Amino acid sequence: MRLKRFDAPAKVRLDGIPTDPPDSVKKREARDQFDKLSGELFELQDLMWGARTHSLLMVLQGRDAAGKDGAVKHLSGALNPRGMMVTSFGVPTTEERQHDFLWRVHKRAPRAGEIGIFNRSHYEDVLVARVKKLVPPATWKERYELINEFERTLAEADCIILKFFLHITKEEQRERLLEREKDPNDAWKLSVEDWKDRQRWDDYTEAYEDAIGKCASKDAPWIVVPANAKWYRNLVVAHGVAAAMRPHRTAWRQRLDEQGKLVRRDLKAWRAQHEEPE
Ligand code: ATP
Repeated sequence: MRLKRFDAPAKVRLDGIPTDPPDSVKKREARDQFDKLSGELFELQDLMWGARTHSLLMVLQGRDAAGKDGAVKHLSGALNPRGMMVTSFGVPTTEERQHDFLWRVHKRAPRAGEIGIFNRSHYEDVLVARVKKLVPPATWKERYELINEFERTLAEADCIILKFFLHITKEEQRERLLEREKDPNDAWKLSVEDWKDRQRWDDYTEAYEDAIGKCASKDAPWIVVPANAKWYRNLVVAHGVAAAMRPHRTAWRQRLDEQGKLVRRDLKAWRAQHEEPE
C-alpha cells in the first residue's frame, strides 16, 4: 500500500490529496487485510512490550466527524489493553492552562513497551488555538519548532511516532454531522460549535497544511489518510502502524530470546542447588 506520507518539511496542499479509497481496493478485501494486520499488530505489540526498548505513539488528528474515535476503536480493538493507553485531549483545564502547552501531553507519552494513542493532541495548539485566535499569532507560530523539539525528545528516547491526519471532504463531514443528529446514540456528541467550525473550513485547512508541513520529520512523520470511507481509513492506519513496527521485530525477538536464555540459566543453577521435592 502506498501511503501519502510526509517525513520532511514540505509545502502541503490538502486539496491535491485523495479523500476516497483507490478504485483498486475493495471493501471486502480491505476488511480481510485489516483482520490479518490486526493479528500481526497484536504479535508485534507483544514483542515490543516484552523487549521494553521502544514505545509507540500514534497521534490522530482530523476535523469534527473525521473518524478519530472510530479509528481509535478499531485500532485498539486489535491490541492488548495491557500495553496500551488512549488519551483524548479536550479543552485544557484551568490547571493545564497554568502550564506550558506541552505539559499535559508529555505526561501521557507512552512508557517503554507501551503504545500511546492520542485522540487530538498538542497539534490542537496550532489548530484550534490559531483558527479561533485563542492565542496571539506570535505564540502559535513559535509552537511548530517547540513541537518539533518535543517530538525529537520522544524519538531520542526510542519512541516510534506516527501522526495521522484523517482527511475527509466538506460534503462527507456534512453528511456525517446530519447522520449523528438523527441517531439517538450519537446526537449528544454534537454541538453548534461543530457547525461553526465548519464555517471556518478553509482556515482549518490552512492550519492543518502548516501543521503537517512544518512538523514533518523522519522520526515523526505525518500520514494523510483518505478517510471518506471508514473501512479504508482503518486499513491505512493499521497498515501505517504495522509498517513502523515491523523493522524492529527481529531485534525485539532477539532481546526476548536473550532474556529467556538468562532466565533458563538462572533456573538451572538454582535447581542444581535446591533439588525440587517430588
Ligand atoms: P469528535 O471529533 O468525535 O466530534 P471531539 O474530539 O470533538 O469528538 P470533544 O471532547 O467533544 O471531542 O471535543 C474536544 C474539544 O476540545 C474540541 O473542540 C477541540 O478543539 C478542543 N481542544 C482540544 N485541545 C485544545 C486546546 N489545546 N485548546 C483549545 N481547545 C482544545
